[in-house]
Amino acid sequence: MRAVVVGGGVAGPVAALALQRIGVDVVVHESHPLTDGERGSWFTVTPNGLDALDAVGALHLARAIGHPTRTNIMRSATGHELGRLPLGAPLPDGTPALTMKRTRLAAALAQECSRRGIEVRYASGLTAAEPTASGTVRASFAGGLAREADLLVGADGVHSTTRRLIDPGAPAGRYVGLVNFGGFTPGGAGSLSDLEAEPAAWHFVFGRRAFFGWHATPSGDVVWFANEPRAQVGPDERTRTTEPEWRARLAELFAGDAGPAAELIRNGVLELAGDNTHDLAHVPSWHRGPMIVIGDAAHAPAPSSGQGASIAMEDGVVLAQALRDSPDVPSAFATYEGLRRARVERIVAAGARSSSSKAPRPLFRPLRDAALRLAFRHVVTEPKLAWMYDHRIHWEKTLVPGAR
Ligand SMILES: Cc1cc2nc3c(=O)[nH]c(=O)nc-3n(C[C@H](O)[C@H](O)[C@H](O)COP(=O)(O)OP(=O)(O)OC[C@H]3O[C@@H](n4cnc5c(N)ncnc54)[C@H](O)[C@@H]3O)c2cc1C
Repeated sequence: MRAVVVGGGVAGPVAALALQRIGVDVVVHESHPLTDGERGSWFTVTPNGLDALDAVGALHLARAIGHPTRTNIMRSATGHELGRLPLGAPLPDGTPALTMKRTRLAAALAQECSRRGIEVRYASGLTAAEPTASGTVRASFAGGLAREADLLVGADGVHSTTRRLIDPGAPAGRYVGLVNFGGFTPGGAGSLSDLEAEPAAWHFVFGRRAFFGWHATPSGDVVWFANEPRAQVGPDERTRTTEPEWRARLAELFAGDAGPAAELIRNGVLELAGDNTHDLAHVPSWHRGPMIVIGDAAHAPAPSSGQGASIAMEDGVVLAQALRDSPDVPSAFATYEGLRRARVERIVAAGARSSSSKAPRPLFRPLRDAALRLAFRHVVTEPKLAWMYDHRIHWEKTLVPGAR
C-alpha cells in the first residue's frame, strides 16, 4: 500500500511512522519550507500523547527536548490558589507530561521519518486531490508535483485543505474569543518567588483582564503565554504593531494582578504574537474514498484543553492500527472513527469550556473565582480527568477481533 501524508506538524509524522510500522510505503508533504524549528509556541504533551509516541518508538525524541511537567497550579488575580491539577499518571518508565516547543517536536519527528527512510518533502503543500475510479487517490502539490496513492491522510491542521477536499461544505475553525501570545524570559526564574518557581509545574493566573501562564525551565528560564479576550487581530493591526508595542500592551493588561506576568513580559521576548485561537468541534465527514483527516484537521480543541497535540498523535497511531487490522480501507476508516470520535469531541468540548472561563467580566469576577475553586475541587480533578490523561493505545492489541 502507498500512502501520502499531508502535513509535517505532529500528527503527520507520527501517522507516517505508524503506517511504516504496518508495511505501508509512505511519503510526507509539508507546505512550509524546512526551518530551524525555533518558531512559535510551547506546548505540553501529556502521558496519553507520550504513549502514542512510544507506540512508534519515538518517545526518546520528546524526552530529549521536553521538561517534566507534573501539575497545573491555578491562582486568582489576587494570588489565592484556586486549585491544583496533576497531569496524569506517568508512563511505566516514569516519564511524566513534557513541555517543549511545538516546532522542535515537529522537526525531531520529521528527522526521525527521514532517518527511517520516509521521504519528507517541504514547500510542497497539497492543492488538490480526488479519488479515482480504481479506488486510489490522485493528489497535486505546489510546484506541480502529482502523486497517485492508495491512501491520503490529511494532517494539515485546523485550516485544513484536505478537509475541504473531502467535503467542500465542511465547517471552518471557530474563533474562540481569545488572542494568544507566547514568550520566553531568559534567566526569568531568578526573579520568581519560591511559590512562583515551583518546578515541573505550569502556573496560571485568572487575571482581571486576561489569563497568564508560566513554566520555569530546569535551566532557570521562563516560558510564558497570555490569552487576551478580545476581537480577532486583523492583518492591519498585525503589520503595524511592533514586538515591543505588543509587549508593552500585554504588560499593561496584567498590571495590578498578583504574580510575575508584567515583569516576565517586560523582560522577555515574544515568540508568538496575536495568534487568533480557533477550535473545531464537529466535522461530519472525516473521510471520502481513500482520503481521511486526522488531528486538528478533523477536530481541533482550543489550546486551553492542553490536549490538541496529544490526541493528534493518538489519531496517527490508531489509524495505522485500524488499517493493519481491517480487510480494506473503508472498514478501517469505520473502525477508526468508531474508536476516536466520541473521545476527541469530548476533549474539544472540555477545551471550549476552559476557554470561556478565561474571559473575565468585572462584576462577576469574585463569583467566577468561587466557581473555579469549586470546579477544581469537584469537577476538574485528577480522577475525573483520568479518561483523558491515562488513555493508552496498546499497539499489539488487535482492534478487530479475528482480523489478524
Ligand atoms: C498557542 C498554542 C498552544 C497550544 N498548547 C497545547 C498544549 O499545551 N498541549 C497540546 O496538546 N496542544 C496544544 N496546542 C494545540 C496543538 O498545537 C495542536 O493541536 C497540534 O499541533 C495539532 O497537530 P496537527 O499535526 O494536527 O496540526 P499542526 O500542528 O497544525 O500541523 C499541521 C501541519 O500541516 C501543514 N499544512 C497545512 N496545510 C498544508 C497543505 N495544504 N499541504 C501540506 N501541509 C500543510 C502545516 O504547515 C503544519 O505543519 C496549542 C496550540 C496553540 C496555537
